[in-house]
Amino acid sequence: MDRIVSPEVKELVRRYRDIRSLGYALSLLGWDMETYMPPGAFRERGEIRGILRTQVQRLYTHPEFISLVESAKPQNDLERGIIRVLKRWIKYYTKIPREFIEEEERTTAEAFQVWREAKAKSNFEMFRPVLEKIVELERRKADYLGYEDHPYDALLDLYEEGLTVKKCERMFSKVPRISDLFKKVKDRYPERHPLEDESYDETFLRRLIEYVLGVLGFDFNRGRVDTSPHPFTVEMGLYDIRITVRFEGKDFRRALMAVVHEFGHATYEMNISEDLWMTPVQTGVSLGVHESQSRFWENVVGRSRAFVRRFRNEMIMALPFLKGYDEEEMYRYLTLVRPELIRVEADEVQYVLHIYLRYKLERAMIEGSVNVKELPEIWNDTMEELVGVRPPNDSLGVLQDIHWAHASIGYFPTYAIGTMLAAQYYRRLDLREAVDRAEFSTLMSVLRERIHRWGAVYPPDELIVRATGEEFNPEHFLHYLEEKYLS
Ligand code: MG
Repeated sequence: MDRIVSPEVKELVRRYRDIRSLGYALSLLGWDMETYMPPGAFRERGEIRGILRTQVQRLYTHPEFISLVESAKPQNDLERGIIRVLKRWIKYYTKIPREFIEEEERTTAEAFQVWREAKAKSNFEMFRPVLEKIVELERRKADYLGYEDHPYDALLDLYEEGLTVKKCERMFSKVPRISDLFKKVKDRYPERHPLEDESYDETFLRRLIEYVLGVLGFDFNRGRVDTSPHPFTVEMGLYDIRITVRFEGKDFRRALMAVVHEFGHATYEMNISEDLWMTPVQTGVSLGVHESQSRFWENVVGRSRAFVRRFRNEMIMALPFLKGYDEEEMYRYLTLVRPELIRVEADEVQYVLHIYLRYKLERAMIEGSVNVKELPEIWNDTMEELVGVRPPNDSLGVLQDIHWAHASIGYFPTYAIGTMLAAQYYRRLDLREAVDRAEFSTLMSVLRERIHRWGAVYPPDELIVRATGEEFNPEHFLHYLEEKYLS
């Protein structure tokens, strides 16, 4: 790893420590909010987080800070990475007016409440007015940020540096083939697996999960596992990375695979080089690359015969109802393919189809070619065409995700990137043997060496080429699926 040598960059990193510390506090407050905070503290916590955020913006837009970034002459890759990342933040905080951020905050706070109720009542019309407002805001945001070809490009770039409609089109050109493959594969599976209805003992499953995490290589000295309504990973710093799990009471693969997924996110952050500590590049580089780590562990490793073989005895100990199931049957349960209405329930074969649908609608809303009121109809038609099922109501259709209520338009495509990129690692980094032998530490050291340790030193496109020897290539994903599900 390079060293920081230029005086301007040294000074920037010194000043950046203030931003980092606020970020650390914000993360910890956010984690607490989702796990142990008493419900009555909600409003106060929101207020305080808002104030800390304003402080972050103030530090990024301080004239001296900006002029240091402008005048810096980076000497090596590390310094170039630091300046690149700082410029992105400065662009965001200087181009978007403060009043806009406040308006967005207010609107999304309202939208969240409305969305929750609309979803419970399965009533899209209720959500429509506030979603229209959010779309209008996000179109304005794209104008503030600027773009070359498409307003959606400006939003995509917020979640995945350098992502554009053009690149998305290339990625999603595989959708017809994935849809065909899915339709072929789904007939080979039962509609429901008996293990989906088996209830488990939460204490025993928790013990199993902690055991699995330990064997995979989770560092409990720098990490924790807690429960929350939705599983997530949050990093405070390099030495405190936390994941959460949710226990539904039955269908144990949901909790188990979710935790293996979050393990992937967590190890990415844990394996960033200590040389990058407290610098702007001590972070996963993008949401897509982050998701590629979680999907690699969840899909490629977790949903493998080798994984079942490795943990079968421990699983039976924790979940006695597994006694009657052999290895192949447990593998079948973990890799069940059937048409799903809900994205988060979707198997790895159809998952990208769900993402494509959302991408298509977001792009159309941002360019103004589709009105919000048309969404349910297009949603249902596309689901029928790609997955072969039509949502019977909006809560199982267009209202299912929280992202639009959060104004996170442009986020979804990163899930597809991650899912596909995981297959590229598998094929390009020669990981097959290590996966088949459940050699988790080998997998970990390859991923650490090629991806994790670099943090955000290189932009995602460049990191992918450096790591895998080629550009992002969705063809690997198709091969991976065909091999796994057709043979
Ligand atoms: Mg994830």
